[in-house]
Amino acid sequence: MPLETAFSMDTSSIKYGPGVTREVGWDMEEQGARRVMVVTDSHLSDKEPVAVTLEALGRHGIDAVLYDRASVEPTDVSFKEAIQFAADGNFDGFVAVGGGSSIDTAKAANLYSTHPADFMTYVNLPIGKGEPVPGALKPLVAVPTTAGTGSETTGVAIFDLLEIKAKTGIAHRNLRPVKGIVDPNNTKSLPKMIAACTGLDQLTHALEALTVLPYNQRPAPEHPKLRPAYQGANPISHIWASRAIEMISQHLVRAIEDPSNDQARGEVLLAATYAGIGFGNGGCHLPHGMSYPVSGMVRDYVPEGYPPEQPLIPHGMAVVLNAPAVFRFTARANPEMHLYAAKLMGEDISDASPEDAGEVLAGNIVEMMRKVGMPNGLSAVGYGPDDVDKLVEGTLPQHRVTKLSPRPASAEDLKQLFMDSLTLW
Ligand SMILES: [Zn+2]
Repeated sequence: MPLETAFSMDTSSIKYGPGVTREVGWDMEEQGARRVMVVTDSHLSDKEPVAVTLEALGRHGIDAVLYDRASVEPTDVSFKEAIQFAADGNFDGFVAVGGGSSIDTAKAANLYSTHPADFMTYVNLPIGKGEPVPGALKPLVAVPTTAGTGSETTGVAIFDLLEIKAKTGIAHRNLRPVKGIVDPNNTKSLPKMIAACTGLDQLTHALEALTVLPYNQRPAPEHPKLRPAYQGANPISHIWASRAIEMISQHLVRAIEDPSNDQARGEVLLAATYAGIGFGNGGCHLPHGMSYPVSGMVRDYVPEGYPPEQPLIPHGMAVVLNAPAVFRFTARANPEMHLYAAKLMGEDISDASPEDAGEVLAGNIVEMMRKVGMPNGLSAVGYGPDDVDKLVEGTLPQHRVTKLSPRPASAEDLKQLFMDSLTLW
């Protein structure tokens, strides 16, 4: 089978700066939009980022209709509700204000209202049909209010498919927002635990993008339109992922401990975007693949600072809990890159040997997790050895990311990785 020889650099246009949300009216006018669906969730709908967005759109004479029913953990049902709203509303543009869930919901609403199809048509293989998006979408401008998902830069929308209790997604470069409005004013009031989880999500995005299977070790696509958004590590994703790891390692703890530290908070938000460009082009691998059943099978765990009525293992937490075990496992495939990642996190690697690479990187991740108050492994969020087979079963269909593991992982390997993730220190 011939191997891939090409890669591309796809990203949204990004505008960064304190207060830039006030310019979103102009950003949509520039796109030619006159009637816009503003997608957010019910927790944010009466908060400042939404108010500033609506006011800015109004100032440019744009008819803005608020949709505040994006689910915090989107499902096919919540996506379909937003799609229906979009189809009925006859919009010529979309603005998403919120975390990854609101941005992903807006991507789905834009996709299916622009190119109507049966819902499973564009959903990733093997769960859906994985058909490529047939053409351009309407302009979507994303205004992230958490520093973590990087969804403003990617062509990916993640959701839970309720009938099989699995997370899957839609991935195509046409889903990518035309612009990300990255405004540090919008992350000022983020609760500590949310800031920690989203921050560690972006750290893991960057670490995965740096160490993921290289693009030229992936089979070549039969047609350029079949080249995946997650292409594998390449020289461009490398740059963005590397710099994101440095910025997060230097600023995340300070930004969480003191949210009034505008400089640290701004750096973390910018780093989320860098990490998003890194993994949006390079891809993620096992920590993300393994995270989906960890989130999906939650029983009664409620993290501090989250609404008590809904058991939840936040995405970033579910991802980073698997990360130390994964990097100990994958280091053998590319020890130099794993050591380089540890160096970017601030480790002195001058005396480290290639055999140490996994342990050194895992140690740095664990140290960061402890500093920001993560639970000690999967056992601390309600899982035990008896759950491991089910967790493996939930990971196996996540081909889009598991196939990009730098070291192939069998079901038996995944089992061991989950076992090793039960307790981390
Ligand atoms: Zn993530």
